[in-house]
Amino acid sequence: MIIDAHTHIGRKYVIGNAKKLVASMDKAGIDVSLVFAGMMNDCPTERLLREIKPYGKRLRAVGAIAPLMPEGPTVDQAERWLAEDKVIALKFYVGYEHYFPYDDCVRPYLELCVKYGRPAIFHSGDLYNKVPGARLKYAAPLTFDDLAVDLPDLRIVIAHLGSPWPVDAAEVVTKNANVWSDCSGFVYGEFDEEKLAGFRHLVGEFLRVAESREKILFGSDWPICDQASYVAAVRTVFGDEAKDILCDNARRLFGIGV
Ligand SMILES: [Zn+2]
Repeated sequence: MIIDAHTHIGRKYVIGNAKKLVASMDKAGIDVSLVFAGMMNDCPTERLLREIKPYGKRLRAVGAIAPLMPEGPTVDQAERWLAEDKVIALKFYVGYEHYFPYDDCVRPYLELCVKYGRPAIFHSGDLYNKVPGARLKYAAPLTFDDLAVDLPDLRIVIAHLGSPWPVDAAEVVTKNANVWSDCSGFVYGEFDEEKLAGFRHLVGEFLRVAESREKILFGSDWPICDQASYVAAVRTVFGDEAKDILCDNARRLFGIGV
């Protein structure tokens, strides 16, 4: 089984739909993808839920929280998604929306994640420079340490190995039992030799600090990255079948059945 823990559908910045995602998964041999809603991608959670419904358990919704946007979901709405088991996690776009993960504005949503035992996934590291006003200070991996300490029962995913700060991300993951990281988003399209070398280097930096790879998740960041190429790159960089990265770690964290 292969689980892609980081994909998007959307109509702005990120352009992709559920049908194309499933076709890509078939080509790549991926069984389950977590699909992120995103207000900034013009794909709010309710829209995402409608679009992925025909694909059953192959696509698992990740709700998008936007605490500073008037059109963002209320705490009650988010609670309904969690209580009705419609979302497997919640996603937070800190650097694009300008709040720290430990800010009061977002705390009620994070407490819901604790209540329902669902992870909170945060964009971290580099920001897409076509999104106006994106600010790195909110997305730096070290900012997740405060949240991890404040809410020890919240399970946190730092996306993209916090790149270009994989050492910081690894330290936060290693120090805090409740923090994971995904290795998504390291290429536009398919890997070539140079991109593969860059990916290998960043993973090496992360593993130099992390004590184990138990808390690294495979994510591609489709449609930005090609899923089949990404699966091959993960196997090359992590060795053998990389079953822990491609499947076991995510299954444990998200409680995905066989
Ligand atoms: Zn992403």
